[in-house]
Amino acid sequence: MIVMKFGGSSVANGERIRYVAEIVRQELKRKPVLVLSAMGDTTDHLLEAADAAATAGTISIDKIAGLHIKTIRELELSSEIQKVIDPLLEELRNLLLGIAMIKELTNRTKDYLVSFGERLSVRITAAYFNVLGIKAQAMDAWDAGFISDSNFSSAELLKESWDRIPQILNPLLEADVLPVITGFIAKDRDGKITTLGRGGSDRSATIIAAACKAEEAQVWKDVDGILTADPRIVPQARPVESATYEEAAELAYFGAQVLHPWAMRPCMKSGTPVLVKNSYNPNAPGTRILSSVRAENPSPVLAIASRRNVTLVDIVSTRMVGQSGFLEKVFAVFSKYGVSVDMVATSEVSISVTLDSVYNLEPLKPALTEIATVEVKTSRAIVTLIGDVRRSSELLQRAFQVCHQAGIQAQMVSQGASKVNISFIVNDTQAAEAVRGLHKEFFEGSI
Ligand code: ASP
Ligand code: MG
Repeated sequence: MIVMKFGGSSVANGERIRYVAEIVRQELKRKPVLVLSAMGDTTDHLLEAADAAATAGTISIDKIAGLHIKTIRELELSSEIQKVIDPLLEELRNLLLGIAMIKELTNRTKDYLVSFGERLSVRITAAYFNVLGIKAQAMDAWDAGFISDSNFSSAELLKESWDRIPQILNPLLEADVLPVITGFIAKDRDGKITTLGRGGSDRSATIIAAACKAEEAQVWKDVDGILTADPRIVPQARPVESATYEEAAELAYFGAQVLHPWAMRPCMKSGTPVLVKNSYNPNAPGTRILSSVRAENPSPVLAIASRRNVTLVDIVSTRMVGQSGFLEKVFAVFSKYGVSVDMVATSEVSISVTLDSVYNLEPLKPALTEIATVEVKTSRAIVTLIGDVRRSSELLQRAFQVCHQAGIQAQMVSQGASKVNISFIVNDTQAAEAVRGLHKEFFEGSI
């Protein structure tokens, strides 16, 4: 079997769902399981509706109801589907009414609320498959074995799900049924709806693929795969043919938008290949993510990512050189205040770290200044090169030549001994220029 996951833009309207059906039809022999996101920007619209209810007491599901009803019309579905959709829209309206009355929006309520997006999209899409003569069954993730902890808004699946998912799905596949499952959502043991976090339906797909020992997990997006750089910064960016799980995860973590950093984890463990494809351009080969190292690449760089809104913290020990426990003390402070550190570079007496600019550092500053002198520099960006560290000298030399020529100062550099990423910090205002220069150096013209 295979898993095919389609994101919000791949199922954004009736026309897009017709394309999806064509793509799935080609793969029917491989026994696909479908995982869908909410249609288009429905998740955002649901959250906006919740905010409006909680803050202004306004109840409006017009945008959400409008899109789904229009899609039913576009797909020329029979009135039967309306009987399935109407009760969901009614339940959603009631929930918003409840939110408006109590003027409170907890993560638990939010998860319940956003779940309607995926629940609506699988029902409409499955109904359309049935019209085409493809036997399809819409399923809420909890009916497909997804049981999670009660960590609302970022739930983790419980171990028992791993056995349940194939137990439920295998008989359906044997009966030639196409399961169409909601991504993103689950239920806890008490039956409360949870979500795996924004963008979580990629992970729903890789979980199913790993649990069912699928031949492959296909993740269908609106770009041609993982690209050599963000196309909004570098119009010449092109798809990467293949990447390892680790490279893909690092890229996602350091700013590439295509896959969620956690999405690869289930398949990385099981060794299931992940194929990133474009539902708007299905003939493009896409990017294949595997555990084995790909063939020798002409360029030492696989892709370039950048992440903005980064704060650089320079910490210099006030004690003597050779003091033990300095690192431990510094990281204990970050840990105590729940601050996640991204990049780290150290010398005998100093540590430089980067953090996301969302963190407020005021509360932890006193604790740090007890052990060190601290300097905080805001408005920085991380530029990351994912590549072949066996060629790191060449890579660094060429990368810094590019920066030097453009007058861009690299303010901190980090490279793990066996890792695939080399990162450095630049001023936020120079990040795009650095990425463009590096792309030109490593991917455009003769390499
Ligand atoms: N619909 C959810 C979101 O927009 C989950 C997903 O698309 O992966 O975050
Ligand atoms: Mg979405």
